[in-house]
Amino acid sequence: MLPICIFDAKNQVLCPQCETKLESGKISKSDIEASFILAKTAKTVSDVDNFSLFSCKEFQGNYVISLAKEDIIRIRQSRTLYRVLQEQFKGKIWLVEANESDKQFIEDLFFPTKILSINSVWAPGGLQKTKAVVSGRWTSKFPINIDHVKDIVKRARNLDIDIEFEVQKR
Ligand SMILES: [Zn+2]
Repeated sequence: MLPICIFDAKNQVLCPQCETKLESGKISKSDIEASFILAKTAKTVSDVDNFSLFSCKEFQGNYVISLAKEDIIRIRQSRTLYRVLQEQFKGKIWLVEANESDKQFIEDLFFPTKILSINSVWAPGGLQKTKAVVSGRWTSKFPINIDHVKDIVKRARNLDIDIEFEVQKR
């Protein structure tokens, strides 16, 4: 299942119906890009044919890809498949499950790093913020760009998130 017809995805074209969906904003350019990439990948990795792509949203060069849970598990189990997919996008890919809670969404962005807690907190001035505590200590080798996570959570979920590490810097 893809946001566009399978035929379109396989042939890298858009039929009039899908063209209309794009013009009306029902689907985005990045939905189409991701559909093309999945269809192309399915030629060499056959089970990608059964993937369910719900959407692909691009936020300043970050691609947030909503897939079915089993598809995400499949990709996380194969470094090769992950690399094959990542190489075809112009920016970093972030795998999230379709229709998941805000908490699960944030956990997926941090995968494989563990999140110890995610809570809503009230900031001065009555603003609600979400605070996530990441296990361990931040080092310069930490693989996830915290600023990108903050930006994605804000744009995709409209949440202001504070990220702290379990072990604070001194
Ligand atoms: Zn179509």
